[in-house]
Amino acid sequence: MPPKTLFQRIADKEIPAKLVHEDELCVAFHDIAPQAPVHVLIVPRKAIPRVAEAASEDAAVLGHLLLVAGRLSQSLGLAKGFRLTINNGPDGGETVPHLHVHLMGGRALGWPPG
Ligand code: AMP
Repeated sequence: MPPKTLFQRIADKEIPAKLVHEDELCVAFHDIAPQAPVHVLIVPRKAIPRVAEAASEDAAVLGHLLLVAGRLSQSLGLAKGFRLTINNGPDGGETVPHLHVHLMGGRALGWPPG
């Protein structure tokens, strides 16, 4: 077995995090360094490294992450809008090699991103 990723250790509650959601496929928790008033990470329990390495068999879990993001946007009070981001690879700004969706909102977000 490869060593657990940071986010697997959070999902398994070996490392503390402020969880806002968990189910059989994913967990969601507040980012430790929030870039917006609401900044939550939605993370599959399966350690898919990044979108570019997702497989056809991951389609259901990938879709599930977006559905959870939509539900969390409601429960976290983001009716005015929000942004979903997935960073992939060095140029994409990825720092944790375990696929995750950033859900950010609570202020007007600029475009284009840096
Ligand atoms: P990325 O740069 O897209 O790979 O995103 C990784 C995110 O994980 C960053 O926004 C970090 O602030 C966040 N992060 C790193 N360690 C933790 C942690 N222990 N708990 C919560 N969020 C974390």
